[in-house]
Amino acid sequence: MLPKKPNKAPHPFYNSEEWRRVRRQVLHRDQHTCVQCGVKSDRMQVDHIYSRKDYPQLALKVANLRTLCPTCHAHQATSFGRKADYKERPIINYNGYPEGTEW
Ligand SMILES: [Zn+2]
Repeated sequence: MLPKKPNKAPHPFYNSEEWRRVRRQVLHRDQHTCVQCGVKSDRMQVDHIYSRKDYPQLALKVANLRTLCPTCHAHQATSFGRKADYKERPIINYNGYPEGTEW
């Protein structure tokens, strides 16, 4: 027997009715536009901000989803762990200093 080819079928989650419905809502909210680079195409992908694996309770929350183009989505997939960075970036105050720093 030859070894099986890698199974590329999507996770059953992505075939569920709920996912299709929520995905449509997200695409509509983001107007089918990549939230990272602004690209608009008919091949947009919906990405979980907090991963479905780590936060299954957020898997179908519109607030946890965003529209990405295939390029940005592929980048996200290869830089796992950096996703949350943008949330942790300090807020810069009007005076030019990051919020919460002592000076
Ligand atoms: Zn993009």
